[in-house]
Amino acid sequence: MSLTEEQKKHYARHIIIPEIGQQGQKKLLYSTVLVYCEDINSLWPLAYYLAALGIGKILCDLKDNRGAGSLFADVMDFNNDTSIDYLKGNDNSGDFSEEKERVIPPSFCRIILGNYDYVKSLAAKLLNEKYIPTVISVNNQWKGTLQTFTDEDSFKSFVTLTAGNNTLDSGQPFLANGFSAALCAIECLKLCLNIGNVRKDMLLFDLLNMEFEQADSKVNLFEFLDEADRTDIKQKLSDAKVLIVGVGGLGSPAACGMVMADIKNLGLLDLDDVEISNLNRQILHSFSRIGMPKVSSAEFMLKKLNPKVSVKTYSTELEWDNASEIFSEYDLIIAAVDNIPSRYLINDACYSLNKPFAEAGIYKFNGTATTLVPNQGHCYRCLYPNFDTGNLSSDKSVLGPVPGVMGFIQAAEAMKILSGFGKTLKNKLLLFDAFDMDFNVIDVARNPKCPTCGE
Ligand SMILES: [Zn+2]
Repeated sequence: MSLTEEQKKHYARHIIIPEIGQQGQKKLLYSTVLVYCEDINSLWPLAYYLAALGIGKILCDLKDNRGAGSLFADVMDFNNDTSIDYLKGNDNSGDFSEEKERVIPPSFCRIILGNYDYVKSLAAKLLNEKYIPTVISVNNQWKGTLQTFTDEDSFKSFVTLTAGNNTLDSGQPFLANGFSAALCAIECLKLCLNIGNVRKDMLLFDLLNMEFEQADSKVNLFEFLDEADRTDIKQKLSDAKVLIVGVGGLGSPAACGMVMADIKNLGLLDLDDVEISNLNRQILHSFSRIGMPKVSSAEFMLKKLNPKVSVKTYSTELEWDNASEIFSEYDLIIAAVDNIPSRYLINDACYSLNKPFAEAGIYKFNGTATTLVPNQGHCYRCLYPNFDTGNLSSDKSVLGPVPGVMGFIQAAEAMKILSGFGKTLKNKLLLFDAFDMDFNVIDVARNPKCPTCGE
């Protein structure tokens, strides 16, 4: 059996990746993923990114299942190839052990995502169950870990290693949760298709300082912003105005990150309408909103996530003539576009208006991100002075959750610039390799001969 014509359109951006192809996409549609989360707040970005990949069946174990029915309906509207339901016990409809036996072949893995206490107690409990490949992400506020276990012994050693530690600050899941979700979905894809290298050692990420390292035994997950600093950030963000240019693969998670952080004033600019080929990555849209302007579809979803957000939409193309007028209303721009000419335009307009902007790009399994603050650091043309846009290939391969990772990074960058907390990617370039689950942050410098910001 092959993919239907509709599925070929839906997953076009995956199918053209040689490591996936039609066979890989079909395998994903037959895969089952078990997801363990505390509640729907920590589940939703993960459920969306698994559905974006085209995982056929998601079975959820929730400690608190309030609101799950409506989330399940939304996820199945986002991808009608995906079914999502409770794993066991949660809906009191009986024993699912038979279900678990039935679905184990062909591709089967599980994800545990949440705060430290939850993950620790759950992992210990799962030791008594049949072992299957497992992805674990512990996260809280800006920090988190990611580790993938392909054998039972390493999973056991994780449980022993963490058993002696202290309780974490139980502040609400913050940006790190969405970021973790996209990373977990990528690991899950690699497990299901047996491609790339999963992260067997523990990755420790810190979005506040943009640090990514291999965790050792002294891993410190316990340092957090205190209540006063959190309130301060919240206050600064509630006064800020942010414009997101492009409401697609990058703009979707970036906007989710901003509304999760309680930003009150958000602008969205995009000329396109929702298409089926968007739905392998653009988590703000859905099947029932195909044909609707993207900015309207996004506004609908964002208000569902946070009814307090005020959204101003621009269903227009960004051009020299309107860029200055629109940008001048905002404190910061998130460049979530998919082409080089728009990036040059955003760069030059931001430079002339002295507006900071967070930039990211994606291709296949890779992502880049950097943050540009006029007169304080490099600009986009310092990095790429003469991109010959005539020679760009039309290859638009992109793995669904990769823009998820990068868009949440852009949201983190925007929050730091607006609040003055943490270390940003100013004069730095972040490189993400999803195939090997690796992050690198390198220094970049302003180019004195830059056509935009040079002397
Ligand atoms: Zn420059």
